[in-house]
Amino acid sequence: MGTVTFTSTDTPVTAPGTAPASSTAGGPGLPQERRLVTAIPGPRSQERFERRGRHVAAGVGTTLPVFVESAGGGVLVDVDGNSLIDLGSGIAVVGVGNAAPHVVDRVVEQVRAFTHTCFMVTPYDVYVDVCEQLGELTPGDHDKRSALFNSGAEAVENAVKVARSYTGRSAVAVVDHAYHGRTNLTMAMTAKSMPYKHGFGPFANEVYRVPTSYPFREPTAISGEQAADRAIDVLEKQVGATDLACLVIEPILGEGGFVVPADGFLPRLREWTAAHGVVLVADEIQTGFCRTGDWFACDHEGVVPDLITTAKGIAGGLPLSAVTGRAEIMDSVHNGGLGGTYGGNPVACAAALGAIATMREDNLCGRAREIGELVGGRLRGIAERHPCIGDVRGRGAMMAVEVVDEDGRSPHPVRAAAVSAYCHSQGVVTLTCGTYGNVLRFLPPLVISDALLGEGFDVVAEAFDATA
Ligand SMILES: *Cc1c(COP(=O)(O)O)cnc(C)c1O
Repeated sequence: MGTVTFTSTDTPVTAPGTAPASSTAGGPGLPQERRLVTAIPGPRSQERFERRGRHVAAGVGTTLPVFVESAGGGVLVDVDGNSLIDLGSGIAVVGVGNAAPHVVDRVVEQVRAFTHTCFMVTPYDVYVDVCEQLGELTPGDHDKRSALFNSGAEAVENAVKVARSYTGRSAVAVVDHAYHGRTNLTMAMTAKSMPYKHGFGPFANEVYRVPTSYPFREPTAISGEQAADRAIDVLEKQVGATDLACLVIEPILGEGGFVVPADGFLPRLREWTAAHGVVLVADEIQTGFCRTGDWFACDHEGVVPDLITTAKGIAGGLPLSAVTGRAEIMDSVHNGGLGGTYGGNPVACAAALGAIATMREDNLCGRAREIGELVGGRLRGIAERHPCIGDVRGRGAMMAVEVVDEDGRSPHPVRAAAVSAYCHSQGVVTLTCGTYGNVLRFLPPLVISDALLGEGFDVVAEAFDATA
């Protein structure tokens, strides 16, 4: 498509006496509409994609090759003027929306005041404010401490450091289908080889993988408690509880396929770890901050982990992560043992305070539950017409479908990819995941309108029809 036609909404509107609105201004003020003015990707995105190939390492992947110019609410606007419905939130990051007003205000204020001192050199309030908020919001009313980092993987690594230091033990347990990051230790903790681990070994040792609860793929139906006992048996026999520093687990698997364990699985693991002095680390990097309809996914069954790792949704798009946990565990590490040059950067902390204020004021936990009902209803409707959907699952605004073959069970990643590609071509950003690559996951911003969400799922439904 050679010509690019812009609709009237692309013309910047300048009110008298105000600074000219930038054509790239994002945030919730952007027209909340799906608008296709070129094929996807358009010519300008294609040009940029070629340039990307000349300068950016090939190992860095791309889900959808449109270059973004602005974003806000439930849309991403690309350099060709297309407005896409966002059902991915940059992988569960911009739950509060892109360029969310409180985030932008706090960031601008902070960036004008100072950008960095290194908290370990000279501290500042916003870091402590974020830790105070984390202590309040995370499960359990015990005394807590937090430490801040830059990425999810870094938070997971630090949770393991803390657990080892506190227990004096070295073994780390993780579950099948887990995803914990891309650094050396977290690659070892992540289950899936391609693309995360392939060719990158050797990996860190003393990491042990145990079965999880995956209701759709159990050979025979078992309860959450039975699934937990199956994992515990492996831990007791093959690792030894007294050698185990921690069990690190996502309360709902993220990259591994949005697998919700059977009820009773997490509480049973909580009981067993507590009885054996094993630190239970909930990796809530993807599930946290209202995504599942609670502040944290552990809240759903009243599970209180010893440590919790957070990142993604914490700061409205700025890089920040945290380990929060029991004061006696966190404070067991020698002074100077935790930290990093940028960990808890003031601009990222200010963004987190703006994001958390938005979640509280706009009751985004409640909104996530509404989104879950709307999306769940739409997906179950599509599943009735398309037997290739073997399972509809998730919680709150973290929903997914597992795409299978005619036998109702074998993973069908090709169909899942085709559905996703169709959505992309129609201006809807969707993501896939799962060990078998056959899960379509939906992670809309929690501030998306019902109208836009409805239109997004009209396109998802069309995509299943078109690829049948
Ligand atoms: C994304 C993710 C990570 C890694 O976070 P990064 O910021 O990409 O390092 C770890 N755990 C879970 C559950 C995640 O979803």
